[in-house]
Amino acid sequence: MKLEKSEFIWFNGAFVPWDDAQVHVLSHALHYASAAFEGVRAYATPKGPAIVELELHVERLFRTCKVIHLPPPFSPAEISAAILESVRRSGHGSCYIRPLVFRGYGELGIDPLGCPVEVAIATWPHGSHFGDDARNNGLSLGVSSWRRMAQDTHPAMAKAVGNYLNSQLIMLEAKRHGYADGIALDVDGYPCETSGGNLFVVYDDVLYTPPLHGGVLPGITRRCVITLAREQGLDLREERITREMLLTGSEVFVTGTAAEVTPVSSIDGLPVGEGHCGAITRQLQEAFFAVVNGKVEDRHGWLTYCG
Ligand code: PMP
Repeated sequence: MKLEKSEFIWFNGAFVPWDDAQVHVLSHALHYASAAFEGVRAYATPKGPAIVELELHVERLFRTCKVIHLPPPFSPAEISAAILESVRRSGHGSCYIRPLVFRGYGELGIDPLGCPVEVAIATWPHGSHFGDDARNNGLSLGVSSWRRMAQDTHPAMAKAVGNYLNSQLIMLEAKRHGYADGIALDVDGYPCETSGGNLFVVYDDVLYTPPLHGGVLPGITRRCVITLAREQGLDLREERITREMLLTGSEVFVTGTAAEVTPVSSIDGLPVGEGHCGAITRQLQEAFFAVVNGKVEDRHGWLTYCG
């Protein structure tokens, strides 16, 4: 999907024209992945654009920064205010928001500490990530030959840029095999997440999602869907799922800020359930969109209005 320019990007404390938000080619992050980011969405509501779980996204950004020794030169309150102002200024009714904290130009070696920490926040229009057909009818996924990171390799719970080389390998392999995305196994061989989304499986009327210690990113959409599932009285368990559960479960879906709540129609060429969006997935998807689009009361305080 081609990036659609907005007028401004917030860059180190000021709004600059989109084309002027530039870095030096010897910036540390470009060479050594010394960066942390977030993916956030604002949805159009009857009361104007509303950001989903702003506070949780900023908190996760700061947690990532702590883990990778990347202290942002702004406070969480300043970053939240900058995100809100970015959406306001953009004029977008709904958009994707990308905060990025990175090591800039200074020294060039593995040790990042001699390089300044810089922050950018960009916004752009972004509709259905996998397209409306996938949102309605489901994605075809394949199990990847690439595993997610072991606990003592990369910090899987952090949204660290370096982790996304693993995600790219998963995605590229999946595309080569004709799938929309790949499902990565964790270090012990249990399915854990896709290149950029959390996994849910309905198996024997129980809704499972892998636990946070299973090599997954603590997805904020995952958390929203867990809340909705409990509210709807579903039996929701944060437990490891096996590959057999994935292949023989009645429903599988993926959650993420980009992915939203997207059904999975096939895995490795085998249909999931009836091969289209299942009833539980549809029910959770509709409940999610109803809240973020401001069509029902925001019962859990997910939304921050930009107006
Ligand atoms: N896992 C990975 C690897 C991701 O990149 C994402 C997207 N941020 C997710 C899960 C879903 O997280 P969230 O719902 O917070 O977007």
